[in-house]
Amino acid sequence: MEYRNLGRSGLKISQLSFGSWVTFNKQVDSRLAETMFGMCFDAGINFFDNAEGYEAGESEIVMGKALKSLARPRDSYCVSSKVFFGASVDPLPTQRGLSRKHITEACHQAMQRLGVDYLDLYFCHRPDPETPVDETVWAMHNLVTQGKVLYWGTSEWSAEDIAQAYEFAEKNHLTPPTMEQPQYNLLDREKFEVEYAPLFEKYRMGTTTWSPLASGALTGKYLNGVPEGSRASLKGYEWLRDVMVDSDRGQERMGRVAKLVHIAAALDTSLSKLAIAWCLLNNNVSSVILGASRVEQLAENLLAVDVLPLLTEDVQAQLTAI
Ligand code: NDP
Repeated sequence: MEYRNLGRSGLKISQLSFGSWVTFNKQVDSRLAETMFGMCFDAGINFFDNAEGYEAGESEIVMGKALKSLARPRDSYCVSSKVFFGASVDPLPTQRGLSRKHITEACHQAMQRLGVDYLDLYFCHRPDPETPVDETVWAMHNLVTQGKVLYWGTSEWSAEDIAQAYEFAEKNHLTPPTMEQPQYNLLDREKFEVEYAPLFEKYRMGTTTWSPLASGALTGKYLNGVPEGSRASLKGYEWLRDVMVDSDRGQERMGRVAKLVHIAAALDTSLSKLAIAWCLLNNNVSSVILGASRVEQLAENLLAVDVLPLLTEDVQAQLTAI
């Protein structure tokens, strides 16, 4: 496993990490999570991603139980949480967003659910147009000075909003954000590669990127319809099925996936591994967060690094053309 600095910080995180959106508490219980974490630790993964909003806080409880029973030294791995959506199905106005109150309380609640004394990484899960950015920066800075959060960052903010947070922090000698958590995969490149380019240049912003397989689309398994038990088939994720498969855009993307599958086959590998490895080619990626609902998926995805040599300039050009 290669370790990359999280942006301009000194924190070394594994280039592959493991997250829990959709899966934990829905498809993965704490026993299976424990098995998966064991596989991750064995592979050298040292960062596990979570959020208050995943399964209304239950995902963090599953992760906390699995980490507790594995009993690895706390200084050997990093965990994250994210604040914004709230940790209940129908949060009250004070239980969501990026106010000082919610950021502070959500941090304490996440630590309790995860069973940790501090969060290594803490993200603002979305921008909050109803809270001034200075209040959010101050709240995060205070948590950092209290030792409850080590590195704070954003997720899916605009480049403009992120720059504003950096500039406010720098001007007032506060702790600036260290990282963003954006989507990045073969089908979704624009925001990462174009909009964020000045932030990498100017602030050396780190990134923990999500959905390297576009929620499973980049495995090729949706080409003949929605497989039973797959993410797009789950109750409550009908919106995702629409985005991934049913909509015109979904169909257009599936057309491109079909072409990508051929490239992977010609290289005698799986599209899953190729797609994950491709994300690692970008030096502005600090860590690619993997997702898996089954042990076999995780086992396959952990081998992605092995196919990096297949990604020659010629192959990269073919992928980009698609
Ligand atoms: P992926 O795009 O890799 O999708 C993972 C899903 O694809 C799995 O749960 C599984 O779903 C399917 N899959 C994975 N590997 C295989 C395989 N080898 N063969 C067949 N199917 C496979 O990642 P995620 O969308 O899960 O994102 C990763 C992490 O990123 C999340 O857990 C979360 O921590 C973070 N994230 C952050 C967001 C943010 O807003 N900050 C948003 C989304 C994710 P199934 O078996 O159900 O079909």
